[in-house]
Amino acid sequence: GINSLSDLKKLEILGHGHGGTVYKVCHEQTGMIYALKVLHEFGNLEDVEYQRQAMSEADIFTRVDTSEYIVRCFCVLDCGFAEGKGRRGDLCFVMEYMDMGSLHDILRKNKKLSENVISGIARNVLKGLQYLHGMQIVHGDIKPSNLLVNGTKGEVKLADFGASRVVINRNQDGTNSCMGTCAYMSPERMDPEKWNKDLCSGGFAGDIWSLGLVVMECYVGRFPLIQPGQKPDWVTLMCAICYEENVKPVLRMASVEFQSFCQRCLERDWKMRGTVEELLSHPFVNNRSDQSNGVMELVTQDSRD
Ligand code: ADP
Ligand code: MG
Repeated sequence: GINSLSDLKKLEILGHGHGGTVYKVCHEQTGMIYALKVLHEFGNLEDVEYQRQAMSEADIFTRVDTSEYIVRCFCVLDCGFAEGKGRRGDLCFVMEYMDMGSLHDILRKNKKLSENVISGIARNVLKGLQYLHGMQIVHGDIKPSNLLVNGTKGEVKLADFGASRVVINRNQDGTNSCMGTCAYMSPERMDPEKWNKDLCSGGFAGDIWSLGLVVMECYVGRFPLIQPGQKPDWVTLMCAICYEENVKPVLRMASVEFQSFCQRCLERDWKMRGTVEELLSHPFVNNRSDQSNGVMELVTQDSRD
């Protein structure tokens, strides 16, 4: 096993986020490659909310270690880099390395993906959500940069539990915290009062809403709720989330199955929205014979146009 960060050699930076940096690292004794997520200065007692969130991420990461649809975390180390800047109290996650990076990186390069690839992605994400929701965990931040792709195996996995929560153990003061990215948030999360009341099932349904936006983004090659030329401001976004027809205008050329899948994900009333189980048997994800090939196509052949 990995006992100390000094066993890991930093090779390059894979990503930056709120308070964290992800490195590609090599375990020198074995030559194995890992991804290392470092939450800096976790020991800084002044920022209680950041600490709480970091602990919750660690807690969730250690619970979710048996699904092939979730990025594996091999260990959590609570220390600073021995060499390096000598910062103390960093919280570090040693994860499996996903060699194609995130779906965000892929979309930046390829722009648009085929329905076959999107179907494979949707199925992998739904399998990951089925596992999480089954453990009463809401992911809370499903978006392209938190979906990681493994090109060697053609897998898509859920990552980044920084906004996740375990529904039954949730403490009262955590209810209004809005940690996920606002753009991918469902209408019910815009209304804090309603969100509190409906949290238990509404939280799970929020992950489905976000998935609907992700698959649409894969198809059109841009965030689907803001049209090209439109100002990407909060009011425009809020109107699109809460009032506008979002699926039909964007997916005019798509298959009936894909349109219907997105409609079920982006149903505004969360009680009417498709559940993980329903969507896993939806023809868009279920009718295609070998699903892992959907993602494999992404690896071999690149974009639709
Ligand atoms: P944050 O909480 O800062 O958003 P993430 O866990 O989402 O942190 O990681 C940030 C970025 O780092 C990701 O979008 C991805 O590009 C990269 N990354 C994270 N984990 C891995 C991994 N296991 N393998 C490869 N790249 C990763
Ligand atoms: Mg992230």
